Amino acid sequence: MHIHTLIVGGGPGGLACARTLAQQGIQTLVLERKKIIGPKVCAGGITWSGLISRVPEKLAEKSFPIQHIRTPWQKVRIEEQDPIIATVNRRQLGQYMAKQAAEAGAILRTGVMVREIKEGTAIVQDRVNGKKEEITFDHLVGADGSSSLVRRHLGLTSKRLGIGINYQIPGDLQQMEWHLDNRLFGNGYAWIFPHSDTVSIGAYADNQTMNPKELKSSLLAWARKQGFDLDNHRARAEYINYDFQGWNFGNTFLIGDAAGLASGLTGEGIYPAIISGEQTALTITNPRHSSKTMDELISKHDKHSRMVTLSGKNGFLNFLLAELVTLGLRSGMIKFNKLEMAV
Ligand SMILES: Cc1cc2nc3c(=O)[nH]c(=O)nc-3n(C[C@H](O)[C@H](O)[C@H](O)COP(=O)(O)OP(=O)(O)OC[C@H]3O[C@@H](n4cnc5c(N)ncnc54)[C@H](O)[C@@H]3O)c2cc1C
Repeated sequence: MHIHTLIVGGGPGGLACARTLAQQGIQTLVLERKKIIGPKVCAGGITWSGLISRVPEKLAEKSFPIQHIRTPWQKVRIEEQDPIIATVNRRQLGQYMAKQAAEAGAILRTGVMVREIKEGTAIVQDRVNGKKEEITFDHLVGADGSSSLVRRHLGLTSKRLGIGINYQIPGDLQQMEWHLDNRLFGNGYAWIFPHSDTVSIGAYADNQTMNPKELKSSLLAWARKQGFDLDNHRARAEYINYDFQGWNFGNTFLIGDAAGLASGLTGEGIYPAIISGEQTALTITNPRHSSKTMDELISKHDKHSRMVTLSGKNGFLNFLLAELVTLGLRSGMIKFNKLEMAV
């Protein structure tokens, strides 16, 4: 089989890319190794400036115009007129985006794993019947997440990684919370993100300041203090790649986590995945397409990465930065959207 553009991975990045390409009349194939599109280890937070206004209202499980931030020294409540963050169910978001891509004309195949990439050819395997197939392509898009095969095929390593651990537990809470405490979470944080009838409780940290085992035991101890007993629930953890080294490699492109475009500071990755997916599609359709949007995204990503480097230098600096940023938010000198990936 030959295809104009082969997209490896049916996450938000791959699906946004597929929809945009298909809308331009480009023959597009998405291969997703999972049987169902959507489910992914994630807290499901989407931001107002980034995405809330771009997804149908019914997809938002809960919306939060108020944010609560806790540090060892401060307890802050921030309120804005519009929701600052909403929560979405990743399965529903994925299904919605897959429908949009398919309606635009993209072909989506699930349960199909890309095993190997050679010059202009992908060797793929059906995970149900084990059958292997060769697919040739003109353009290849790596939308295959933080352990991207396409990225490795390009010879790129991923050293700058965040670790995210999530527990999705039953519950109906109303308050969205961020807890910053460098003794527990290094230069990361723990969160409480309420969904419609579940709550995402988790922690994020840069892998240079904390290993996954330490992060998990801090998270469990902290959660217990907050009144959540997570011991009988299942932890799901994944790396978040923020080691950006480029996105346009001739006829091969990297988007979202595969490109390392998630924020190293907050772990926010859905917005960068969608934007880089759309921009990659427009570049494939028209190689002279303006790079302004990608340049802005990369510049924001760079700012977040520099903050991670700075806060990761030592515990005291990290503590000071967290308190200063929280103070800035509290006084209104820093707007919450300054910490988002949206430009
Ligand atoms: C604990 C945790 C909490 C998070 N919380 C948030 C949050 O609240 N808000 C936010 O914006 N971001 C959050 N993120 C980050 C966010 O989940 C990712 O940045 C985002 O999903 C990246 O989208 P993507 O399309 O690039 O990749 P992914 O969503 O990872 O999609 C990649 C897809 O490629 C498929 N794939 C991989 N390899 C192959 C292969 N060889 N063949 C075929 N298919 C393949 C995978 O199955 C997957 O479906 C969180 C991450 C973690 C770990």
